[in-house]
Amino acid sequence: MFIVMRKGYTEKEMADILDRLTQMGFTGHTSKGVERTVIGVVGRTYPELKDTLEMWPGVEEVVPISKPYKLSSREFQPHDTRIKVGDVTIGGEEVVVMAGPCAVETEEQLLQTARAVKAAGANILRGGAYKPSTSPYSFRGLGEEGLKLLDKARQETGLPIITEVMTPQDVELVARYADILQVGARNMQNFILLEEVGKTQKPAMLKRGMSATIQEWLLSAEYILAQGNRQLMLCERGIRTFETYTRNTMDVSAIPIIEKLSHLPIIADPSHGTGKWYLVAPLALAAVAAGADGLMIEVHPSPDNALKDGAQSLTFENFERLMAQVGMVATSVAPIYRGEGLKMN
Ligand code: PEP
Ligand code: MN
Repeated sequence: MFIVMRKGYTEKEMADILDRLTQMGFTGHTSKGVERTVIGVVGRTYPELKDTLEMWPGVEEVVPISKPYKLSSREFQPHDTRIKVGDVTIGGEEVVVMAGPCAVETEEQLLQTARAVKAAGANILRGGAYKPSTSPYSFRGLGEEGLKLLDKARQETGLPIITEVMTPQDVELVARYADILQVGARNMQNFILLEEVGKTQKPAMLKRGMSATIQEWLLSAEYILAQGNRQLMLCERGIRTFETYTRNTMDVSAIPIIEKLSHLPIIADPSHGTGKWYLVAPLALAAVAAGADGLMIEVHPSPDNALKDGAQSLTFENFERLMAQVGMVATSVAPIYRGEGLKMN
């Protein structure tokens, strides 16, 4: 349930409410909007609690949240979450582009890619140092060495970096280097990892599990949010269906669905969503047209020689072409999604 505060409530009333909730074994998560301030009450709530809380000073009313996910829901927070990473704002007016290789392979490969994606207009550099891998025999990443190379690329280009963290034990180390922590599809329900990521208070991106429903995905997001980390974005990266032509089926419908159900920014990853480089541009454009807040695109200096995901990686030239097309679509759909009062929710 959530507490809607009375207009003109005092800071003391707010602090007292948060204290009393803690004493009762609940956690209070505040959301201050232009229209109203609410406190999400997380814990084992029960129907009679509503009457009790409504007697507390400063409280206007107490509303049960009808959805199983709470802190990620629009009911709790009607306004969009915006995440600032350096100069980049995710979830705001601009479509943010994260680009780079699937895996950090060598200094030269990473720096060349970082320079190329920056020149083409990307906002954030991606690259995996710890790679989840379906087969134990494929490349598993450079580990901390890869993180150091990402740091070097950031220093040279000024691009913030996003990189995956795979285990709870690695969170502290990866968080020391990364600007955004990525939780991959295979770990969407690694609940201990989600809680550790939540504790860092670092911007994080939660990818949709390959067989996860929208509800399961949002419930996973709750694990991170409930630790007090509100700088969270979601990423649609394709789901498993009966189709085998593509690596996954890119669920473009998830974008407006998330936009409707949740205030969290939604990023689209058409590289993993399709598995084929020539499908990356059409699906990237479809995602932007559907209202995505950003894109994650795999780019490699020589996709034929990539140690991972070469078949879905764009060359520098194709990435540059895509960026121009993304600009065109983003500009034409901006009045629909980003204009005042025209947002689709
Ligand atoms: C990745 O981003 O390189 C990755 C492994 O993605 P996913 O978790 O979506 O498979
Ligand atoms: Mn990849």
